[in-house]
Amino acid sequence: MIVNHFSPGELSAAFGIDMSAVHGLGPGAGWGRVVPGGRSTAHQHDESEVFVIVQGAGELLVDGRRVRVAPGTVAMFEPFETHVVENASEQDLIFFDLYWRDPALAVRAAGAAGRRRFDERPVFVFSTPPTPNGDLHLGHLSGPYLGADAYVRFQRMNGVRAWHLTGSDDYQSYVVERARCEEREPADTAAHFSAEIAATLGLMDIQPDQYTVTSRDETYEKGLQAFFSRLAAAEPVGLRESPALFDRATGSYLYEVNVSGGCPGCGAPTNGNICEECGEPNVCADLADPRSRRSGEPAGQDKITRFSLPLHEFRSEVAAHHRLGRVPARLRELADRVFSRAWLDLPITHVSDWGVRPAEPDADGQVIWVWPEMAYGFLHGIELLGQRLGQPWQAGAPEPDWKIVHFFGYDNSFYHGVLYPVLYRLAFPDWEPDIDYHVNEFYLLSGEKFSTSRGHAIWGTEILGPRSVDAVRFYLAATRPEGRRTNFDPAEYETAVRDTLIGSWQRWLNELGERVEHRYGGHAPDAGVWTPEHTAFLRRLSGRLAAVTGCLGPDGFSLSQAVAELNGIVEDVRRFAALEYAVSAVDLWQDETRTAIALELAAARLVANCAAPIMPRFARCLAARLGLPDVATWPRIVELLPAGSAVDLAGAEFFHATQRPGATAPNGIRLTIEEDTHNG
Ligand SMILES: [Zn+2]
Repeated sequence: MIVNHFSPGELSAAFGIDMSAVHGLGPGAGWGRVVPGGRSTAHQHDESEVFVIVQGAGELLVDGRRVRVAPGTVAMFEPFETHVVENASEQDLIFFDLYWRDPALAVRAAGAAGRRRFDERPVFVFSTPPTPNGDLHLGHLSGPYLGADAYVRFQRMNGVRAWHLTGSDDYQSYVVERARCEEREPADTAAHFSAEIAATLGLMDIQPDQYTVTSRDETYEKGLQAFFSRLAAAEPVGLRESPALFDRATGSYLYEVNVSGGCPGCGAPTNGNICEECGEPNVCADLADPRSRRSGEPAGQDKITRFSLPLHEFRSEVAAHHRLGRVPARLRELADRVFSRAWLDLPITHVSDWGVRPAEPDADGQVIWVWPEMAYGFLHGIELLGQRLGQPWQAGAPEPDWKIVHFFGYDNSFYHGVLYPVLYRLAFPDWEPDIDYHVNEFYLLSGEKFSTSRGHAIWGTEILGPRSVDAVRFYLAATRPEGRRTNFDPAEYETAVRDTLIGSWQRWLNELGERVEHRYGGHAPDAGVWTPEHTAFLRRLSGRLAAVTGCLGPDGFSLSQAVAELNGIVEDVRRFAALEYAVSAVDLWQDETRTAIALELAAARLVANCAAPIMPRFARCLAARLGLPDVATWPRIVELLPAGSAVDLAGAEFFHATQRPGATAPNGIRLTIEEDTHNG
């Protein structure tokens, strides 16, 4: 017999609380203690785990759900469930802990449809609000916008309450600069491009559920000021004097678009405040050889009092946040670099006429910096969406159950992944934001960065139309910069449309349609006798379905891998059809041949369903020509087309050969600055 008593002397620090080990019980076992006010660090693992509470009271936080626990409570965590135990009582919370490995359960849990409670929580999917200083080009569209759109389409097909939110980030300094070049007011420039951006998203078949225009929304300013007041009142934030840069000739304050120099992180040439190359922030005064971008002259330095946030104090808080959701290694590595600095007091107000002024009287001539502003903007968007949906969501009272998903380019990583978690913690100390991050790198055009100023861009309006939109979405999904820089090559795009979409996909569907018409009068045959190759092909399709499901799901989301799997279905079925062709006209084997055709039609049905998040028009059109009602539901299994379904694939034109898109700007305006885009 093994008898073990709880003994405080055997405890040692682990997972943010105190744990001990009890050996010999079979499964792993031990005691746990959470001191009053304490909590374990969020984590997840492949073992199943059971807590038996024996003393004290507290709460478990499991994938955003809170459960009260007291002596006598038994709780089991499934593999990979993110769990935290908190003690808000006055005495120690003590529990007995058991854990064991069950590989079959772990594999099932990893692929479970409702993982991380996506099936129970509202899921708010944000693409970075674009800056209205220009229209959207393929670099923008391929990144956050296509990503968020396909993500939400897939989630909805799975019954998840997911919405795509974005908007127009009007108060960017880049808008002021563009307005100066155009000789008009920032508000006019913002309104003009905000409308163009919304129209371009529409051309891409992206209709966000919430599109907040920050300078024109009636309740935005007050809500933002209230959020900022929470920050200003929080302990380490304060008005502090620090060095800032000024134009020596005009005396104007220099930051962001108006200043350039060497990045203090990597040394690369950069604009003020963020380095596109290494992703690290700067405070302008720490740039090497800083110059005013307007005059090209060396910048002067002086001291100025701004609201500032000592970010370096928050390393462990940011790490704890990064343990909660899906945070790519690239983002965690950036956080580590930023926090390796001993000191980073980040100004969160700047001198400008364009933006929202804090309600605090001491910030004369300054506005709330547009990047901290965006942290509030997301919450504001949720509130506005809720008003339309009849949900009581409030920007001033974010809820633990909210699942937030961000899509953005790497150059915004610092703001989304490091700064905002700190701001949320300061503004809402009791809220534990549960956020997934999806980061894209730069998309290049013929080997070079897209650039508005140099006219080195392909604009959405140049290439998108009802006949091309699905092909563009297909090619951008296939080549978008996931985890590495990739390249848009106009000639390769043409080739992909001609050889893959028309030459392979459409040709197969047309030929399949001809065979169904010729042999079965245009109606799906019932499957007859199955050969071992038929059975193997069904298994193969099932494997493809599992793979593409994983590529579009929240854990493994990758559009380029999803497209590879979709294309894999077509390659598999063309190979299968070619092999089966030999006996297709032999009377003796007709029962087997109609099985082969039924399987090809099952593959076509699978393509229609699985392509829907990426190529919604093609998917609807293909479904209709297979006699299917819609493509609103994600398939769990590979299914044959009902026998007798009317099939109308012969001669169907799903895709259209394309003209090479030009590489010119949509209007004659050229900015005088080098890198000026900053949309998304
Ligand atoms: Zn850098």
